[in-house]
Amino acid sequence: MAHPKEILARLQANARKSLSQNFLTSPHWAETLTQAVTDGPTPDAIWEIGPGLGALTQILLKKAKAPVTLFEYDKKLSAFLREEYPGISLIEGDVLKAPLEELAQKAGKVAVLSNLPYHLSSPVFFKLVEIKPFLTRVVLTFQKEFAERLIAKVGQEAYGALSIIAQLHFKITNLGILPSGAFYPPPAVASQAVILEPQNPRNLDLNALSKIIKAGFLHPRKKMLSNLKQVFPEVDWMKAMEAQGLSPNTRAEELNEAQWIELLNHSKSP
Ligand code: SAM
Repeated sequence: MAHPKEILARLQANARKSLSQNFLTSPHWAETLTQAVTDGPTPDAIWEIGPGLGALTQILLKKAKAPVTLFEYDKKLSAFLREEYPGISLIEGDVLKAPLEELAQKAGKVAVLSNLPYHLSSPVFFKLVEIKPFLTRVVLTFQKEFAERLIAKVGQEAYGALSIIAQLHFKITNLGILPSGAFYPPPAVASQAVILEPQNPRNLDLNALSKIIKAGFLHPRKKMLSNLKQVFPEVDWMKAMEAQGLSPNTRAEELNEAQWIELLNHSKSP
């Protein structure tokens, strides 16, 4: 594939900062990311979010054993992709406004690949949580700091509500760090790629659990007891915490995944 700079010049376009347009130039990472998504269980459809100039798309189309659908916001890039890949299924516009659940219901089991626009990391992640029952495997590149929050364990600086919720919903595999030189134009920060594989081995009510976790972290400077009381005043949180030997001074970031699950169980008991 020609260098993004060349293609952009041909299209009389510039990389748009507002759309986090940093185009992948590393053949190694294009290969690694597309292989990671096609290595998973065979889906009924593969979605690529923000295909840009097609650095991943062109390889994905060769490897994919299922129809590929692209979601691209930029009109010029969408026109370019339609010309490059005649007949490709492309949904133009904001992926956050696309009816993903409806599309997934029609498609069946879906695998997702994206070098995500940085500004969409969190909203796209939570959109994917919503359609998790339809997902086989998701391969995403995030800003490194966001990926670190996803995979952080208790005691690490990046650990927080996002880490616990992400790890409850998905088995997360770290694929490694992409230096800013892997993109054109190079972003100010490094990126990190991960594989997300849906899970819920204990059949937990992850919605209820996520609400409790978010409540516990509501005000980072406050103790979790007062945060929990503020959001769910009807629950005897003191009792629920004491039941598993937690002092009222405990902070949300001190609890591991299993302790949050215990807290959910105790919060329900009369
Ligand atoms: N996948 C390409 C690559 O690896 O070279 C481009 C990645 S670039 C980081 C992000 C892409 O997402 C751009 O093509 C950008 O136009 C697109 N994008 C930004 N915001 C979007 C949105 N809300 N919905 C869909 N695509 C979006």
